[in-house]
Amino acid sequence: MTDQRAPRDPHAFIAGLPKAELHVHHVGSASPRIVSELAARHPDSKVPTDPEALADYFTFTDFAHFIEVYLSVVDLIRTPEDVRLLTYEVARDLARQQVRYAELTITPFSSTRRGIDERAFMDAIEDARKAAEAEFGTVLRWCFDIPGEAGLESAEETARLATDDRLRPEGLVSFGLGGPEIGVPRPQFKPFFDRAIAAGLHSVPHAGETTGPETVWAALTELRAERIGHGTSSAQDPKLLAHLAEHRIPLEVCPTSNIATRAVRTLDEHPIREFARAGVLVTINSDDPPMFGTDLNNEYAVAARLLGLDERGIAELATNAVRASFLDEAGKARLTQEIDAYTEAWLAP
Ligand SMILES: [Zn+2]
Repeated sequence: MTDQRAPRDPHAFIAGLPKAELHVHHVGSASPRIVSELAARHPDSKVPTDPEALADYFTFTDFAHFIEVYLSVVDLIRTPEDVRLLTYEVARDLARQQVRYAELTITPFSSTRRGIDERAFMDAIEDARKAAEAEFGTVLRWCFDIPGEAGLESAEETARLATDDRLRPEGLVSFGLGGPEIGVPRPQFKPFFDRAIAAGLHSVPHAGETTGPETVWAALTELRAERIGHGTSSAQDPKLLAHLAEHRIPLEVCPTSNIATRAVRTLDEHPIREFARAGVLVTINSDDPPMFGTDLNNEYAVAARLLGLDERGIAELATNAVRASFLDEAGKARLTQEIDAYTEAWLAP
């Protein structure tokens, strides 16, 4: 990521580049078309059904407003068929962007609390996962995350769903923590992460998105994070950056999301350069792409501009995501080779 030459046409290169996506939310990936379909199916919801009105609806004033809108879309996922449709359509959108592997963050508590049968919920996501792999060639894995704003009850429920052998879906690889950070201290979730880790799941909490570097430290020491969701404020603490680099703890960077939620003021002020300069393993992700008017390809273009990358540098970002993923070694080797072969073919005279 040190190459400073500008790429000739980053968009075309990125569009065809095989990629892994590590930080993208299930409900937050619902495109306006899917949301309007769901809203029409559930007319008592306050979510608009008209795609143009949806664009206005998805313009946020601050992080609290984002959470409010997000939860109103969560409210549209009411039946196992809603869950299956959403998951399958999200996979289709990922496949269109040449995403070969995605760890999709799912908040099962939001659905089971609404009365969706937990067995039917697991069956719906697994059915969509298998269909997506067979039909689109995109491999999906799950991260079950605790919605921090819903408190310890949601943590208990999420840990139970993630660790009960009779329920735990085959595609589950990791355990996360999302929602607002202000007023929701990370250490209280330690017992739930301990249980998930003991059950063989990887720890991937959001941290330092809207709070300072102390939250990232808490995620590392209390929740034993193996990757950090966002970690934006890590740039304020050189010791933390050195720690992340030394221990190869990747950051799941989502540039446009950070602007949309006002975690960072402007893209040019985004700390991604500081992360790269400090030797931190940076991965590029899209978070809640339709809600933020972006997609993974656009996030790569943004990162390429901010970091001054050419094609090889962009391909290295894609390889970082493979390295930081929870794919098995054979899967990592295959996808890395695919990225290399694509890049060499692109650059061949
Ligand atoms: Zn997120």
